Amino acid sequence: YYTRFVSMDKAEDDYLSKAEAIYWEPSDNVEDLYIQMSNEKLLEINKETISIQELLGSGEFGEVNKGIWQSPVGDLNVAVKVMNQDIDKQSQTALLQEAAILGQFSHPNILRLVGVVTLTVPNMIVTELMHEELKRFLIDLQTQHNQELDYETIAPHFLSVSRQVASGMQHLAERGCIHRDIAARNILLTDKFVCKIADFGMSRRLQTESDYYKVKGSNKLPVKWSAPEAVFFKRFTLKSDVWSYGMLLYEIWSVGRQPWPYEDNRSTVEKMARGVNLPPPSGCSRAIYELMVDTWHPRANQRPDMKDIVTRLSVPNEMLLVRTQLENRSGTLPPAFMLG
Ligand code: ADP
Repeated sequence: YYTRFVSMDKAEDDYLSKAEAIYWEPSDNVEDLYIQMSNEKLLEINKETISIQELLGSGEFGEVNKGIWQSPVGDLNVAVKVMNQDIDKQSQTALLQEAAILGQFSHPNILRLVGVVTLTVPNMIVTELMHEELKRFLIDLQTQHNQELDYETIAPHFLSVSRQVASGMQHLAERGCIHRDIAARNILLTDKFVCKIADFGMSRRLQTESDYYKVKGSNKLPVKWSAPEAVFFKRFTLKSDVWSYGMLLYEIWSVGRQPWPYEDNRSTVEKMARGVNLPPPSGCSRAIYELMVDTWHPRANQRPDMKDIVTRLSVPNEMLLVRTQLENRSGTLPPAFMLG
């Protein structure tokens, strides 16, 4: 089941041919998964050592609370996802699988799994505690400053966010992991402005694409963030993640704007098919906009890979060059359909 995370079309993707699929595949069967998780050294936490504090938010399968874990090295602030009691087996498996995937990464820009509670019910997933969602941060920033935002001041922070996420994604890419739901809503920030990629859960909730439509309704597919070949042909690769990363860049530099805010999914798809790009956000440099446009190349293999992106973002002077009047690059690309 999880092989879907590792693109099987290796020949088509240079990056992937070098990528190593490092992680073990979480089983579909919850009983096997429990055994796997204990064999694979995911830390099992005794629930008595966790004290649950206030509610942080409610997800689909459970509540996320602030918690304090009495770890062997002292008290740690953590986020504790407590699984709903009436959760069905499939969702329970999906959640544990998500934890199992998360537990296999160790990178400053990927949310860290602390441990799991699987020996007692309710099962819990314990991760490092984050401050807020990037999306929320951007929207608040926009609201606070209205039209008065000082881009000269904020741009270096935006560049830092862009680079951190790219760096986390490069780590995933090098391990052949396709996230499939890269968007500002799935990036969490610490109070020190460190960005971490979270929510590896979306792909997990898919059994097959057709189930997905049936279960969730098409509005749940992140169409506005998804590459044309993913939307049209269900082809998810590292390069479709790169496309979504471009959408995330757009969200960052437009200070929390949703891509295509006035379009519904259907007309977004039509625009995509015609090769129409989003216009440059007003606070964004030419180099950043060029990067965005490159990530939206209709041919997946023409998009830069995450390594290139990290490199490009590491030249701050160029990236932050005071904005000039940028022409909208919309419509300059051939239709996605024609390129397949
Ligand atoms: P969803 O099911 O919508 O993906 P989650 O269950 O992952 O949401 O999370 C629910 C809420 O808890 C979200 O608002 C999210 O911002 C918050 N949250 C999730 N993980 C953490 C964390 N590690 N630290 C702080 N808040 C978190």
